[in-house]
Amino acid sequence: MSAKLLKMPETAKLYEGKAKILYNTDNPQILLTCYKDDATAFNAQKRGQIKGKGEINCTVSAALFTWLESLDIPTHYLDCPAPNQMRVKAVTIIPIEVVVRNIAAGSLCRQTGLPEGKVLPSPLVEFYLKNDELGDPLLTRDRLFLLDIVSPEQLAVIEEITLKINKHLQEFFTSCQITLVDFKLEFGLDSEQRILLADEISPDTCRLWDQTETDPQARVMDKDRFRKDLGQVESAYQQVQARVLARIKELI
Ligand code: C5P
Repeated sequence: MSAKLLKMPETAKLYEGKAKILYNTDNPQILLTCYKDDATAFNAQKRGQIKGKGEINCTVSAALFTWLESLDIPTHYLDCPAPNQMRVKAVTIIPIEVVVRNIAAGSLCRQTGLPEGKVLPSPLVEFYLKNDELGDPLLTRDRLFLLDIVSPEQLAVIEEITLKINKHLQEFFTSCQITLVDFKLEFGLDSEQRILLADEISPDTCRLWDQTETDPQARVMDKDRFRKDLGQVESAYQQVQARVLARIKELI
């Protein structure tokens, strides 16, 4: 854990997750997120550290949130007081993980038998319950409504924003010579019940394949390097950060 994290008083701690700690601030409308180097996979059955990950995921997320805001996507992002710290608008997180898939990989292949790398005819949007004890199960639309997680109107907004984000991010990563295979988003509700993009967008939450590599293992630039023990995890994350920040500089 970085020294900056230790400076935050324990009493301000609101929640500690696997990759981030959330703190209250003097302003009830604003929370501070501290990104950690801790890495987990397979519902925390595999644990480790990725040196520099906290700073990389925070700066990559901040850059992408800033850019998405400029494209009229509302996010919880405010600013970064330190490279691994992000001030965000306080939102109530909607307890679903929204996964978008452009290319078959990961659990889609395991659960359906589709071959890894198959380009999907159109983006697949899936909803998983954010519940570690239940293993984040895949939900149907009817189950979403049964559990009263979102209204049909809210779901329509989430789907619309999600597909817009996918279109923007696909184009963005292509311009970085990176293929956006799939990714996970989270949304929150602000005090006016507006739906905001929350959490992070980083190599922890996306599958990113280097278009300059053809080898199926060498091309992996995301957390699959950690999940599958492929090695060179830090350098892959650094490479994503370098390409994303260079491209954002050209765009904003
Ligand atoms: O494991 P699966 O193939 O379902 O993951 C799909 C995408 O969602 C991947 O990019 C993965 O990194 C991301 N994900 C995540 N957090 C989870 C589950 C999946 O960021 N809890």
